[in-house]
Amino acid sequence: MSKTTCARRPAETCHCRFARLAPRHHDLLLNVEADVATTVELLELATTWEELDYSDEAVIPPCDWMDFAAAHNWRDPELAARLFSLAIDVASRRAEPALVGRGRR
Ligand SMILES: [Zn+2]
Repeated sequence: MSKTTCARRPAETCHCRFARLAPRHHDLLLNVEADVATTVELLELATTWEELDYSDEAVIPPCDWMDFAAAHNWRDPELAARLFSLAIDVASRRAEPALVGRGRR
């Protein structure tokens, strides 16, 4: 458990669909602009999205991140939008060969 993640904004005040689908991930992502550790977690999730199987976990998928950003109030809405669009960009790039020397199939 990370000590840097504090319950700044309790989930019970939020009634969006993400809070019902993935309450823990929802609360985590709400801190994405305030907590650098959470920002890193988001980017790690984006990086590994195509490699790992998250279907058993209640996580909000990359295709919903812009909706998630739009559904919430942020201290800096522009920064939050940039963060999520960057993460979506990272997640969608996994299909391309990122490493030199891997070769084509
Ligand atoms: Zn919400």
